[in-house]
Amino acid sequence: MARYIDSSCRLCRREGVKLFIKGDRCYSEKCAFERRGYAPGEHGQSRRKQRSDYGVQLREKQKLKRMYGLLEKQFRGYFEKADRQKGVTGTNLLIFLERRFDNMIFRMGFASSRVEARQLITHGHFLVNDKPVNIPSYLLRAGDEISVKEGSRKITRIQSALETVARRGVPQWLELDKDNFKASIKLLPVREDLTMPVQEQLIVELCSK
Ligand code: SF4
Repeated sequence: MARYIDSSCRLCRREGVKLFIKGDRCYSEKCAFERRGYAPGEHGQSRRKQRSDYGVQLREKQKLKRMYGLLEKQFRGYFEKADRQKGVTGTNLLIFLERRFDNMIFRMGFASSRVEARQLITHGHFLVNDKPVNIPSYLLRAGDEISVKEGSRKITRIQSALETVARRGVPQWLELDKDNFKASIKLLPVREDLTMPVQEQLIVELCSK
């Protein structure tokens, strides 16, 4: 499957916001956005042109896609699902993305980034409700219990992610039992729980055209 292979930090600089793609580095002073918070490229530091409405909407969509590491086709699929569901399409979209297995593994603290979570999932290190699941896009529900397989608990990446999770915190709608390598979804989040800087209404306007 196609994947974005250029520098992740360029994406943050392009979007003008930290997307937290690189795990621990994002919380350290090595973060490229902290050091060079302007757009990448030769003209990155020159004054920005006024963006058209379309340009503003497009940047919001790219920001969200990049935050969750999705390609256009996958993103469109979530948008269509969100649009078909009852309720506010933008909120539905954000909640679908939050329900992805790779996102939950990152939020719960078993991985230090969504990219790392995706890799650990495909290598088969986790159980959902005691059954193995190795699909990063698997959608979780309220009440689901996630655990690290017995034989995978010594993996350094999982252990160090758990050691540093306090730095970013576990959302209140999740429950982490660090000692037993388990976590559960108490409730699905509501819009107010999702604090990432995204104006989803602009994305809905763009994708509905
Ligand atoms: Fe973005 Fe993380 Fe790179 Fe900082 S270190 S620029 S937050 S990916």
